[in-house]
Parts: sequence; C-alpha cells; structure tokens
Amino acid sequence: MKQVLHFIDGEFVPSEDGRTFDNINPATGERIGTVAEGGRAEIDRAVRAARRAFRTWGRTTAQERAAILHRIANLIEENLEELALLETQDTGKPLTLSKSLDIPRSAYNFRFFADFVKGLSTETFEMEGVALNYALRRPVGVAGLISPWNLPLFLLTWKVAPCLAAGNTCVIKPAELTPMTATKLAEICKQAGLPDGVLNVVHGFGPDAAGQFLTEHEDVDLISLTGETTTGKAVMRSAANTLKRLSFELGGKNPNIVFADCDFEDAIATTVRSSFVNQGEVCLCGSRIYVERPLYDKFVAALVDRARQLKVGDPLDAATDVGSLISEEHLARVDGFVRRAVEEGGRVLVGGRRPEHLKAGAFYEPTVIVDVDETCEITQQEVFGPVVTVQPFDTEEEVVRLANNTHYGLSATLWTSNLKRAHRIAGELEAGVIWVNTWFLRDLRTPFGGMKQSGIGREGGVHSFEFFTELKNVCIKL
Ligand code: NAD
Repeated sequence: MKQVLHFIDGEFVPSEDGRTFDNINPATGERIGTVAEGGRAEIDRAVRAARRAFRTWGRTTAQERAAILHRIANLIEENLEELALLETQDTGKPLTLSKSLDIPRSAYNFRFFADFVKGLSTETFEMEGVALNYALRRPVGVAGLISPWNLPLFLLTWKVAPCLAAGNTCVIKPAELTPMTATKLAEICKQAGLPDGVLNVVHGFGPDAAGQFLTEHEDVDLISLTGETTTGKAVMRSAANTLKRLSFELGGKNPNIVFADCDFEDAIATTVRSSFVNQGEVCLCGSRIYVERPLYDKFVAALVDRARQLKVGDPLDAATDVGSLISEEHLARVDGFVRRAVEEGGRVLVGGRRPEHLKAGAFYEPTVIVDVDETCEITQQEVFGPVVTVQPFDTEEEVVRLANNTHYGLSATLWTSNLKRAHRIAGELEAGVIWVNTWFLRDLRTPFGGMKQSGIGREGGVHSFEFFTELKNVCIKL
C-alpha cells in the first residue's frame, strides 16, 4: 500500500486534517494506496512556498534553469521502469505504452524546453533617429498547473517544463485518479537540485476542492489546465475574480477524413491506432471517421476486422494492445454513450461491451458504430474511450461541413494522395492541429491547441513561453 503525500516547500507532507482518499488500480479494481486529500490549507501553504521561491528562482539565468531541467530529464530516464509501472498502475494503460510513450516523452519535454529557453529572443523596433524599442521577457510568477488522468506525467511535464524554464514557480494539482507519477516527479526534482518551493504538488479533487481553491487563489498569477471543456468553463469562472492568465487544452471530437485515393494500408493501420491507442483516452483520438463512399465498405470491414484482433487485457502483459479504462465510473459513462447511440439507430459492428474473458477491471472492447448521423449524441459529444463512428460521404464540401459541425476544434486527420485537395481542406477545417496522411506526429516547436470549445491559447515552442512570460517594452528616445 502506497501512501501518496503532498510535496510542499521541499517536503512530503500529509494534509493538516489527515484526510485521504483511496487510489484504485482500474485494471484489477484493487485499492493500491491512499492519497492525501488537500484543501484550502494545503493550497495556501503551497502557494506561499511558491511565492517565496519565486523571488530567487525568477532571478536565475536561463542557463542555470536549463541545467537543472536537463538533470530532471536524466533522472526521469534513469527511473523509467518505476515511473512506467506507477503510470500503468494508476491508469490501467499497457505497460509497453507507458514505457515507450508516456515516460520517454516526459523526459523529452524537459530537454526540449531546457534547450529552447536558451535560444529565446524578443523583438526590437527602431524608429529611425527617434527611438529604439526593445522587449524584455520576464517570468510571470506563481502558476497553477492542473492536469488530467489520461497521459498523466506526459501532459503534466508539458506544462511544468516551460513553466520552470521561463523562471516561474508552480503548484501542481494532478488528476485525483492518477497521483503517483506527479509525486515521483517531485522527488526527482528535489534530487536534481531544484530549490525548495519552486515546484509543489497538492493532491485532491476539482470542484469545491484543491483544484478550485488553486484557481481562486489571489496569489496565483496564471493557470494552465488540461481537462474537459466543462472544467475549462468552471475554471474560467473561478479565476475571473483575480483576472488570472489562462491556458486551456480541453476536449475534442476529432474528425478523421479518408478519401478513396488514400494509401489504404497506411490509412487503416493508423486509424486503428488513432481510434484505440491508450483505450481511446487521448484527446487527439479521431472519434468520427468519414470515409468517401467508394471506399466505405472496404474500410469499415478492415477496421472491424482489426479492432476485433486487438488484444484487450492485463496491462502488464507485453502482448496487450488495449488496457483498462481509467475507472468503473468512466466505463459506465462510455457504455452509456454506446447504448444511447443504439437507441438513436446506430449499429455496433464490433465491441460495445466488456470482454467476457476478463472478470475484474474496467475493460471495454474496441467499438465501431455505423448508421449514425450528425444529429446523434455520439457524433457530437466526446466519449473519451475506445469508441468510433464511421460515416460515408460523397463530396469535399459535405465532409468539411460534417467535420466542422461540432463545438470542438482540437485536431483533424486527412487521408488523401491529392496534394491540392489536402491543402484546400486543411485550410477549411476548424481544428488547431491538422494531420495529413499521418497522426500524432509531433514537432514540439509547433503550435498545439484547440479552436472553439477545445481550448484557449497554444502550447509548444515559443507559444508556451508566450504564456509563461511577461513582455515589457522599453522605449528609449535617441
Ligand atoms: P477533468 O476536466 O475531469 O479533470 C482535469 C483536471 O481538472 C483534474 O486534475 C481535475 O481534478 C481538475 N478539475 C476538475 N474540476 C475542476 C474545477 N472546477 N476547478 C479546478 N480544477 C478542476 O478531465 P479528465 O477527465 O481528467 O481528462 C479528460 C479530459 O481532458 C477530456 O475531455 C480530454 O479531451 C481532455 N484532454 C485534453 C487534452 C488537450 O491537449 N486538449 C489532452 C488530454 C486530455
């Protein structure tokens, strides 16, 4: 049984009132530990520590900060096996995925921003003979970083690394369902020489709890949240009184558009991945698949066949493709979407249930649904599970309209060998991230984030630093 504690001002501490909640491994249903449940008192202490630490950390040089960030990256790599196991125990995702994606990318997030910050520049404008303007970049202050459960360390470090690289300090509120790798990161940061108070972790829940208290706190300057769209709306409301700077990476209902002239093998293999990797619990998963009518039957048959072949089961088994969903509650939610899709006329071609051979754990079979249209709940709401719909289309105009017909606008994928069409449609799609003939291929320098209700702001490269720094213009009369 692990006891997961808060990390405040360089110390691991329980809650003042001793409150805890259970940590459950969703793949077994077993209680694997207890987690300190933070409230106002812990958030207050953590924010005070972060403010104190900011006075010195905010004045270090980029070189000094980058050196520590590289040490953190090294330690993440040295602790890869342990971190991967913790991530899998918390989430139910296959251990092979934690080892090959979650943890390596977490280390790389630190390396990338450590290097990037050293080359960061600002702008200069000369008013010839009159004045010279130049901008100074400064850290903002204390950041509240709130992360989700689906890629816990991966998405947390995507925020922590630029936040610290820019010279801010932070209070982290990890998702309540996945507390372990954030806690291990705190230990690693201390070992790497990060000064006390620069990074603090307070565990707990969201609404009317640690998460909300962090977003309301008057001494927190900025909030970066990755989570559901409804959470973004709640955080915006509670951060309004203190006018905090906000960055939101929220939900998606991403279209995957397949034209008949695509490279079929590439499109189908990648679509299987973009539908079911990490149990479909990736914000970028393509959950609405649109296939040009001449290819529709062949594509659906192949997708169903390959979905059926995926091995659902024990996340610790190297042969497993699809692990457990995050919780029983989430499984019930996913299943509810499928049931209602059927009531609306949808046909489940594969999946739509728990696998019979698995007695314990929140497992759900990869699911393909057809015969739905744009008025159905399943094509409008984010399911965040191993469930996709497939619909045929006839024209470019029709598919662009269908793809854009949602409140979301995170990512989109396009499969075609027609270059002109690819450029044309990429320009029309309402999504912050568009992939053509690929999926989840990431260059960390590029802007990442969502349009419409999928988010506010962009992360990645200079965009992360635009959020985590203040620019001051200095105008000197010549
Ligand atoms: P969630 O919104 O339920 O929780 C995210 C975090 O916010 C958790 O730490 C939670 O405790 C906290 N929180 C919840 N309510 C809060 C409140 N009122 N005030 C402050 N904090 C609060 O999301 P989740 O279920 O953990 O993650 C899944 C969601 O995240 C999906 O919608 C998915 O699309 C989205 N997501 C988006 C991206 C992206 O990059 N756009 C990436 C991953 C996940």
